[in-house]
This record gives sequence, structure tokens and C-alpha cells, in this order.
Amino acid sequence: MKAIIIGAGIGGMSAAAALDQQGIECEIYEAVKEMKPVGAAISVWSNGVKCMNHLGMGKIMDDLGGPMHHMAYLEGFSGKQMTQFSLAPLVEEVGERPCPVSRADLQSRMIDWWGRHKVQFGKRLESVSQNEQGVIATFADGSKAQGDFMIAADGAHSIARDYLMGHKVERRYAGYVNWNGLVEIDESIAPAEQWTMFVADGKRVSIMPIADNRFYFFFDVPLEKGLPQDRSTVIKDLKGYFEGWAEPVQRLIDAINPDTTNRIEIHDVDPFSPLVKGRVALLGDAGHSTTPDIGQGGGAALEDAVVLGRCFAASCDIEGALRCYNDARLERVKDLVLKARKRCEVTHGVNPDETNAWYDELRNENGTGILSGLSKTILGGPLG
Ligand code: FAD
Repeated sequence: MKAIIIGAGIGGMSAAAALDQQGIECEIYEAVKEMKPVGAAISVWSNGVKCMNHLGMGKIMDDLGGPMHHMAYLEGFSGKQMTQFSLAPLVEEVGERPCPVSRADLQSRMIDWWGRHKVQFGKRLESVSQNEQGVIATFADGSKAQGDFMIAADGAHSIARDYLMGHKVERRYAGYVNWNGLVEIDESIAPAEQWTMFVADGKRVSIMPIADNRFYFFFDVPLEKGLPQDRSTVIKDLKGYFEGWAEPVQRLIDAINPDTTNRIEIHDVDPFSPLVKGRVALLGDAGHSTTPDIGQGGGAALEDAVVLGRCFAASCDIEGALRCYNDARLERVKDLVLKARKRCEVTHGVNPDETNAWYDELRNENGTGILSGLSKTILGGPLG
């Protein structure tokens, strides 16, 4: 049995690992010639780390995961602490730590783990066809690949999703812009082993430790879509958006390198169904593109892969196994996308009263409420 996998992101590589565990041959086709991930880092929460362990890639998380042991919210302008607590009770409850990791390192290590020479780069899927015997992928260079089924992990702008839905699926602008990058750890900005967030006026500054003495930072600013992007004004722009904010925020802005700072207009896609049509299945962002507000997009892709593997372990019938995958994932991914959307609205001041009420909650939070939300999301994954 041979699978064609489209995309060598977290989704495609984890799908290959899961199918390989079931003895299924995989051919991976990736559009770009060289991987340049969007975004500097991601937090792979414990559910995603469990999936990486299950897929045989736990060592990658051990090597790349930053020492994130505490969590804190601070008031944006005064820098006054609203809440601060240990993540240890969460790790104990769910049985695995969260791993904030460099995205480029994660993707690179996943590809190396599989065998870089076995990934076909520079193959952009253009169209898909299928019949009762199998699927055919046609690429932009005119070449074709044939397999028994296709796992389309071609990301948020998925071509395969349009094929499955029978029309072009529009992404929804979530109303804010995210700047992100990496800086060397500097404890005058934030403690080295803590996920620190400054919040005010629907804006957010986040600082999270990853491996090799680096902070992953991001700035969220509610803004209209389509504003001009200019690297040369990143520092000035951020200084403007965060004028009057606490000293550590100013130090962070001074420390960033505009050449390696990403600016992303955040989108998601309304949950849809099904995720499968005959012998073609969507996996990862292709099937459920979410805002990053609960940090679960990558984790959801890893969960998809684990479930896909389980469905093929239970059935040799391709269409049956893909239906099993669809049925097992639909509710979970819909829940994650909508949860992230809700979190996004509260964090980014869509309804200012609601956002102010959240700030008040944070001032009275001892960690229990936040940890219980995180734990519920994590334990809702396929590995508990
Ligand atoms: P992608 O990573 O987008 O990979 C898709 C791959 O397919 C790419 O390599 C692309 O080049 C390739 N491709 C695209 N089109 C074609 C084609 N036509 N033919 C062939 N190949 C194609 N998730 C978390 O879990 N935690 C976080 O903290 C987090 N933070 C985030 C912060 C930001 C700012 C953003 C934007 C996302 C964040 N995410 C986070 C989400 C996470 O990055 C995604 O959910 C995850 O990368 C999805 O993986 P994927 O493999 O499905 O898609």
C-alpha cells in the first residue's frame, strides 16, 4: 500500500511517521525547494509531545524543548504582576511537559529523522484526481505521482482542501497582526524559565524560553488587514504600538533583529466537514486552520497523525480507515478552532468589556483556572 503525502511540515512528516509504523510506504512531496517556516517557534503542548513520543520522535522534543516551568501575566503599562504560577501541577496531571521549540529546528529535525533525501522538494501540488484504484497528484512542474491514497498536509492555503470542498475556501482574518522572532535570553526582559505575557488594550507581548538560551517572543496588535509591511520600520512601528509600556517590553523591542522578525496577519478557517473524500484526506492546517491563540495548531496536526495511524492499524480497507480518521477527528478539531477563536477575541479586545473582565480575572487568578483549561485541552487529545 502506498500513500502520497503532500507537504513536509509538521503534519506531513508526522503522517509519514504514523503510516510507516503501519508498514505503509510513503512518498512525500513538498512545494518549496528549501523550507522557510512561517513563525520563529511554537509551543508544542503536552498532547503534541505525547504524539511525538508515540511516533518515535520524542528525542527531538527532549533536545529542542525549552525550560518553561512557570507562567505569568503582567500589566502591559505598569509591568505589575497580575498572576504567576508553576506549570508543575499541569505536567503532573497530564503526564508530560509542554515543549516550546524553534519551528525551523523542529521541521528540520523531523525531516532529517525521516531522511531528507526521501522527501521530494520543489513539487507543488496543482490538482488531484482519484478513482476506485487510487489517486493521482499533478504537480506544477507537470510531473505526476500515483498512490493508493493521499494525505494532504499542504497547510493553511491548501489546494487539496479546495478540491475536497469543491470550491475555493476563504480564510477569515482574525483581526490582529503578530510579529515574532527569537532573541537571546535576557533576564532583565523576563525570567529565563517562565512564559511571560504582558497584556493591555487588547494587545499582548509574549516571551517564552526555547532551547539554546533563546526567548521566542511575539507581539500581537489588533489592526486592519493589508497595512504595508516594511522591515526597516519594525522597531519604530513596535515602539509606536507599545508606547508607554513597561521597561522590559521596551528592552525586548530594542533587542529584536528586524531582519529575522516575522510579521503575520492572523487568519483561521471556519470549521468544515468532511476531512476526507474517498481516498484523499486532509491533515493538519489543511483540515483545520486555527488562530494560534491556544497554541494548538501543531499539536492538532500531530494528533491527526496518531489517529490516522490507529485507523490503519484497525483496518486494511483504505476508504474505511480514512472514514474512521474523519469520524475520530471532526469534533476535536472543530472544538480547537472555535476555542482558539474565542480566546483570540477575548485577548484582542473584540469586546472591550469582555477583555477588561478577563484582565480582572487574571488579577484574581492563582493558576488553578488557567491550568484547568490547559489540562482539559491537553487531555482531550487521542493519547489522553
Ligand atoms: P504547514 O506547517 O503550513 O506545512 C505545510 C507544508 O506544505 C509546507 O511545507 C508547504 O510548503 C507545503 N505546501 C503548501 N502547499 C503545497 C502544495 N500545493 N504542494 C506541495 N506542498 C505544499 N501551533 C502550535 O501547536 N503551537 C503554537 O504555539 C503555535 N504558534 C503559532 C504561531 C503562529 C504565528 C502561527 C502562524 C501558527 C502557530 N501554530 C502553533 C500553528 C502551527 O504552526 C500549524 O498548525 C502547523 O505548522 C501546521 O502544520 P502543517 O504541516 O499542517 O502545515
